[in-house]
Amino acid sequence: MRLALFDDHRLGVVTGAEGTERVVDVTDALGWPHDADPLTAGWWRRLCRDFAGVRDALAAATATGRARPLGEVTLCAPALNPSKIVACASNYADHVAEMHEVQERTLGGVESWMMNFDVFLKAPSSLSGPREDIVLPKEIVAAGQEIHHESELVVVVGDGGADIPAERALDHVFGYTLGLDITVRSPADRSRRKSYDTFSPLGPVIVTADEIGDPRTLEITLDVNGVKRQEVSTRDLLTAVPEIVSYASSMMTLLPGDLIFTGAPPGVGAIEPGDRLTAAISRIGRLTLDVREG
Ligand code: MN
Repeated sequence: MRLALFDDHRLGVVTGAEGTERVVDVTDALGWPHDADPLTAGWWRRLCRDFAGVRDALAAATATGRARPLGEVTLCAPALNPSKIVACASNYADHVAEMHEVQERTLGGVESWMMNFDVFLKAPSSLSGPREDIVLPKEIVAAGQEIHHESELVVVVGDGGADIPAERALDHVFGYTLGLDITVRSPADRSRRKSYDTFSPLGPVIVTADEIGDPRTLEITLDVNGVKRQEVSTRDLLTAVPEIVSYASSMMTLLPGDLIFTGAPPGVGAIEPGDRLTAAISRIGRLTLDVREG
């Protein structure tokens, strides 16, 4: 099932092929009150946790509801007030290799500890939706620091937990979406460099885990102004989704609706005001985002 948040944080099911997609408002099929305020929208975390129990009701509402062209609504980021955004570092071999040159250029030397797989946190307030621009902070642009795109498969946590074994980790995944991990290349801490507002565009939909099946079978691409920069298969993740979920949950309890960015593919590069980014993941969807200075 392809789920979207739109307009006043209504819940939609998206059907149809790209270009002719339609959305049905299934909010009232959830069986609990809707809360349009993203800061108090516990219903969203409940949906992430309890999706299996409402899937049939959502499917029935999709079959009988009014299907509107997707272009008639305003899509929001498919996440509401997650307790955290976990993100993976150094998770594709060719990206780790290219970072030696990037760090020589932007840091004046290689930080060897950054070449090891690990997880870090991004501020949830950095999330933005499919219809929002990526805003580059003017002081960063004025300082001449590079700001890079990273297009990533994002795991949406379902039933959370601590110390989740890898063998059962996929049972704790609600679904998958696409996220950009926009990143300043500077000596500052990752959490600072990656947490500016609009530095985590997300969407356009969440495809639920039952529909994706094996998350190693997805293709990620990113174009800047029509020129391909990134192209990778999630089969090449050094630490795969089950091991990522297990590892992250070994150090922090994962809560329903938490997001896990799985790491940058090779081909990271600078973005500048006026650029148009198109990121896509097969079977999930496409984000087209404009970059501006703010
Ligand atoms: Mn990243």
